[in-house]
Amino acid sequence: MGIEEVNLDFAIKSYKRFLANKIIDSTGCFIPNKKPRDDGYVRFSVTRGSTKAAFGETCGERTFYLHHLTWYAEGNRVPESSTTMHVSHLCSNSRCFNIQHLVLEDPRANNSRKNCLVSVACPCGCKHVFWTCKHTPRCIPHASLIPLE
Ligand SMILES: [Zn+2]
Ligand SMILES: [Zn+2]
Ligand SMILES: [Zn+2]
Repeated sequence: MGIEEVNLDFAIKSYKRFLANKIIDSTGCFIPNKKPRDDGYVRFSVTRGSTKAAFGETCGERTFYLHHLTWYAEGNRVPESSTTMHVSHLCSNSRCFNIQHLVLEDPRANNSRKNCLVSVACPCGCKHVFWTCKHTPRCIPHASLIPLE
């Protein structure tokens, strides 16, 4: 029961609405105009009135992760089971729905990103920044950590 049950045209239209109303932060994250839930993730809702258009039959309201909507509307397969693969954030910003900041990887890799320092500034004050991230592709640093190159 995943987002791939949503009609692709309906998904693309919904995705475009989120894109039109986004804010881009200094890290390049796309921040939607919708509040995240307690787990930090924003949901895309198919309201009851739209279920016929989205699923082909009327049913109760259903919600999906917004970053899964991005992944799907951009033409990618969304993993059916979250135990094998995750659509993971390179930027560690769970609100973000920028396709460039998403990657498909196993849950272990996804979880290890959550504690990644990404980069650290040299303690001597020389402003050199050392990359500590060993992930492929690399994690995207938070605005305060962007290295001065
Ligand atoms: Zn991001
Ligand atoms: Zn130094
Ligand atoms: Zn990393």
